[in-house]
Amino acid sequence: MGVEMTKCPKIECNECQEQYGTNIHSFDLDKQDDVKKGMEIQTNYVWEYEGTCEKCNDNKIKVVVKCWEYPKGFIEDKDCEGEGCKIIEQPILEIKMD
Ligand SMILES: [Zn+2]
Repeated sequence: MGVEMTKCPKIECNECQEQYGTNIHSFDLDKQDDVKKGMEIQTNYVWEYEGTCEKCNDNKIKVVVKCWEYPKGFIEDKDCEGEGCKIIEQPILEIKMD
């Protein structure tokens, strides 16, 4: 079990205004922390993408997607932030069943 990003955010480059979808392969699952919260475990996920705009090749772009799974099997909250770009479509995060 765990959270999976089934659709990556769509972004708009602040430099060239080009809009395009990001790819899951561009993202690193940077962190996956378990935090004890009472009797339950809360799992925090952070995906990060850092690179240059694939259209203008000039602008530095960073996208950070965060998700909190609590209690296990439920997505409590999520967050998506962009640097050098605007997030025009939010990512879709889903619980993955093994
Ligand atoms: Zn660009």
